[in-house]
Amino acid sequence: MSVLEKLSSQSAIALEEKYGAHNYHPLPVVLSKGEGVYMWDVEGKKYYDFLSAYSAVNQGHCHPRIVAAMTRQAKTLTLTSRAFHNDMLGRFEAYVTSYFGFDKVLPMNTGAEAVETAIKICRKWAYEKKNIPEQQAKIIVCENNFHGRTTTIISFSNDADARENFGPYTPGFIKIPYDDLTALEKVLKEQEHIAGFLVEPIQGEAGVYVPSEGYLKGAKQLCEKHQVLFIADEIQTGIARTGEILAVDHEEVKPDMLILGKAISGGVYPVSAVLADDHIMEVIKPGQHGSTFGGNPVAAAVAMEALAVVKDEQLADNAQKLGVLFREKLQEYIEGSSIVSKVRGKGLLNAIVINDSDQSDTAWNICLKLKDNGLLAKPTHGNIIRFAPPLVMTQEQLLDCVSIIINTLKEFEV
Ligand code: PLP
Repeated sequence: MSVLEKLSSQSAIALEEKYGAHNYHPLPVVLSKGEGVYMWDVEGKKYYDFLSAYSAVNQGHCHPRIVAAMTRQAKTLTLTSRAFHNDMLGRFEAYVTSYFGFDKVLPMNTGAEAVETAIKICRKWAYEKKNIPEQQAKIIVCENNFHGRTTTIISFSNDADARENFGPYTPGFIKIPYDDLTALEKVLKEQEHIAGFLVEPIQGEAGVYVPSEGYLKGAKQLCEKHQVLFIADEIQTGIARTGEILAVDHEEVKPDMLILGKAISGGVYPVSAVLADDHIMEVIKPGQHGSTFGGNPVAAAVAMEALAVVKDEQLADNAQKLGVLFREKLQEYIEGSSIVSKVRGKGLLNAIVINDSDQSDTAWNICLKLKDNGLLAKPTHGNIIRFAPPLVMTQEQLLDCVSIIINTLKEFEV
């Protein structure tokens, strides 16, 4: 079958069903085109994208500047591996470190790889700089975390689907409740050999849980006091999504290690990165970590342009402004609603909680109806629907989306 042959939605879904592993449960929609805040299915129906590829497409679909940077570089040099230097990597490294205010960056490809990278650097730092005895380093993580799907990362997940029958698990992690400084302090005081604290500034996959004000600042202070690295996983919350360039910026916190992915490329190419200052990053020496594609010229060109777009188009300010409006409008509706109990979020990372058991399929059915009504979103967990449109949305488009969402919810009121 030629890749140019037009497929119906039904036949595209049938191909995936027969030939692909069933590791996802997508909505029954087959997309073939994207531009800005819109996507089109193969039959030509137009939708608002309210997921942005899990916050990767913050800059909007097929942003012309990012696509141009990618095609320009793709025609010049795509990959050398890190066996040789290339003339794009250093430029990207200088750009990204100055953008986020760190001494050094270690580029990778996917989010999970960047989290793995941060874990390795943290452990090595602990043995070489903090003199933790061999094999004893521990990293504190939070309950209901989502940091990716590798064997080590699922070892400290408490999502049964993510873990079951994938053991034996990697040891060396201590789980504490999220948004609980007392629990963090207790572990730091009572347990030996703690190397780091790995945290999402907002728990996205878990259902957009925004911690109490002061949590991130307090956690950073506790980490400093106990000489433990504060590691922020901003793969989903970063790059303007929450109304600041980073979610930690809301509390003026500078992490010891910053993990980025997704929107660092505007969703155009897999790019991820770990940033840290020299006294941490210097523990990594040649041969100790790497990836064939990490830091390749296309990734470097794409990421620089994607980050420049975020600043030039003031996407953080737009996310902040539209986020307030979105929550205000939804809150007004919720006051008289029996089907929705809550709206929460920051910037344009939001969720509504459906007033039904988290085992029910109401949220899924609402998303199917939203799809029919021209807006694509998906439940995160059970009865929670995440709303995260591209940050290039205009106020007029957002208000149009609010009407679609409210009119759809009305169909489910009892
Ligand atoms: N960390 C966070 C906070 C995420 O939201 C995700 C993906 O959703 C990841 C890590 C994993 O990223 P990837 O799917 O690119 O491996």
